[in-house]
Amino acid sequence: MSQHYVITGGAGFIGSHLVDALLLQGHRVTVIDNFSTGERKNLPEKIELIDADIVEYAQWDSLFKDCQGCFHLAAVASVSKCSRDHHLAHHTNVLGTLKIFELAAAHGVPVVFASSSAVYGSNPELPLSEASNPEPQSIYAVDKLSCEFYARAFHKSYGLDVVSLRFFNVFGPRQHFERNLDSGVIANFIHQIKKGETLTIFGTGEQTRDFIYVADVVRALQLAMEQPNKNAGIYNVCTGIGHSINQLIEIIKNQLSILPKIDYQSAHVGDVMHSLGSPKKIQEALGFVPEYDLESGIKNYGNPSIIV
Ligand code: NAD
Repeated sequence: MSQHYVITGGAGFIGSHLVDALLLQGHRVTVIDNFSTGERKNLPEKIELIDADIVEYAQWDSLFKDCQGCFHLAAVASVSKCSRDHHLAHHTNVLGTLKIFELAAAHGVPVVFASSSAVYGSNPELPLSEASNPEPQSIYAVDKLSCEFYARAFHKSYGLDVVSLRFFNVFGPRQHFERNLDSGVIANFIHQIKKGETLTIFGTGEQTRDFIYVADVVRALQLAMEQPNKNAGIYNVCTGIGHSINQLIEIIKNQLSILPKIDYQSAHVGDVMHSLGSPKKIQEALGFVPEYDLESGIKNYGNPSIIV
């Protein structure tokens, strides 16, 4: 049945692919975005669009009166930007989320919240499961973790129907490379390759990450929304497969038929060596199994309108 969904941050990398998928399935979509990192060209021409800051926007009541779900993705998603401007990050990432939780609870609107594997921070456990201790190291991660706690509090106190999804390293077309420098190693590599630049690897290249393709993340978001009893649940969105940066370069070489030059530089202090998630909980509860591996995701890179 056709539903009306609100997507905060719908002009961004992940949000815009979610918009495409929902419209394709015949749903009605309203995007609210302040275009701080999102782009108009990521959205279809005919779209219900509110160009506003989620904290300042004054019409939430009328928006939520008429919708069946809110995907809350708007955030200052750059870890380094959050560390440079704590107040800006807190304003959007916590106050904005708080506002959405309050109004969604008041109107009985279910929310799927975009959290992050950054909440695990320095926890060295492999793989990281939802039972692993959060050890956030950045302002960004602390804000995401506090929103997960707000989600639980709003569920317990006001019956908010909410799920938090901890995305691992999402990649795919439309991911930023300039304005959001730490947004993704794959987006940065592809950008450098297109410009004929040398790829810089910090450290030995043997550090591993759990890369998940954006189309799979979009499916996880939808499965989470469809779940009837959300109960402030928290789920990893990951593949459970780690790839080193050196392996990643090999895959990029093979899939895109290029031979990039590589420059190894010293590792950044505090860089996490390995990050790997366990997808067991989301697999069992929501039946989520990633459909794309790193090879097929990278192969799809040249196809900006992808996917689902
Ligand atoms: P993105 O920067 O492309 O998207 C965020 C969107 O939110 C942008 O369109 C931006 O303009 C909008 N926005 C920011 N502040 C706003 C405000 N105050 N009011 C209205 N709109 C605002 O980032 P993304 O990679 O698509 O991330 C989406 C969500 O997923 C974020 O919450 C991010 O923290 C989370 N996440 C992303 C990843 C990843 O690997 N990309 C990993 C973990 C979590």
